Amino acid sequence: MRAEEICTHYGEDPARFHGAVNTPIFQTSLFVDCEGNEGGLEGRYAYTRVSNPTTEVVEQKVAALEQGEAAKCFSSGMGAISAAMMHYIKEDSHVVATASIYGPARRFLSEYMKRFGIKVTFVSGTDPEELEAAVCEQTDLIYLESPSTYLFLVQDLERIAEIAKKHHAATVIDNTYATPIFQKPLTMGIDMVVHSASKYLGGHSDIIGGVVAGRREDVEQMAQNERELFGAVMSPFDSWLMLRGIRTLPVRMPQHMKNALEMAAYFQELDIVKEVIYPCWNTHPQYELAKRQMTGASGLMSVVFDLPGEQIHRIVEALEFFYRGPSWGGYESLASPVGADLERDNETMKKGLVRLHIGLEGADLLKEDFERAVKHVLGRGVSLG
Ligand SMILES: *Cc1c(COP(=O)(O)O)cnc(C)c1O
Repeated sequence: MRAEEICTHYGEDPARFHGAVNTPIFQTSLFVDCEGNEGGLEGRYAYTRVSNPTTEVVEQKVAALEQGEAAKCFSSGMGAISAAMMHYIKEDSHVVATASIYGPARRFLSEYMKRFGIKVTFVSGTDPEELEAAVCEQTDLIYLESPSTYLFLVQDLERIAEIAKKHHAATVIDNTYATPIFQKPLTMGIDMVVHSASKYLGGHSDIIGGVVAGRREDVEQMAQNERELFGAVMSPFDSWLMLRGIRTLPVRMPQHMKNALEMAAYFQELDIVKEVIYPCWNTHPQYELAKRQMTGASGLMSVVFDLPGEQIHRIVEALEFFYRGPSWGGYESLASPVGADLERDNETMKKGLVRLHIGLEGADLLKEDFERAVKHVLGRGVSLG
């Protein structure tokens, strides 16, 4: 099934809801026993922490987009990520994770889980042999994020899935960056996909949400344990907003990519730019691998500036259409000077790095904005061409 069909018609049934073309928001905590209470787990709905008709429609769509058997929504990306991790680990487990994952996911593994005796080894993720060398007898989980936060490092998913199977470890990947429009890790042998739906799946910067997708047995067991017991369930209203967002996902993602490619080409030509980091840009060190396992890249990129941190801050502050802020995935372009104050590069960040979300404003407007901000701060143009 094509993504367009999944995002529009799949899972929808107007006949169930008096012909409503939009699945209604079932804003109810409780479902009582009566004739017509059909669906949900066990053939009926009972309680929204367990299942809800609005949420189930989104879950069906995400499962189909990821080519998984089932999906479950959570109240945040971290709700989904922590539940997925807890699902696969037990007392004394060891976890191998890539170093440049989303900060709170890293902190959950390296600091929070320490109190339960969980051990974790971080690897770059760019070298499968280095990753395999970190796996030991107690390794129950290999946690990936490809492309990774800030540096967009890419992991060879098929190869790592093979390594994991050999050592009887589960694989979980954060697929928030690429979305299932551009990358389908379950088809490459990865066991479970997690997303922050607060980004592209929601797509309008108006919800905090998360989702996991995978094999039915895994996902349902996880819903009954980690979701029901920790309780980080998505609200019906957020599910409805996510459903509204997902309808345009296959339209938005290629547009973000088109704009991002134009901006990458533009930044590449500036004398103040040291490096453009974008997985589908030919200067990316893993460009070939990225092209092999992804059909595109999103609107998120990093640009490393060859300027003092103070000037980087001033340029970012002078931008008008790039708002200053973290997060991403909505219509709006964003700039986040996360590496401006760094003394030297490290495994998760580069000196002078600004993370940019290229939104839907169109590249011409954004280039003009950038030219104006740079001229304002440096008093000169910066184009090499
Ligand atoms: C934002 C983000 C998360 C966390 O999602 P929340 O919805 O904020 O909890 C996880 N992974 C990545 C890659 C993210 O960008």
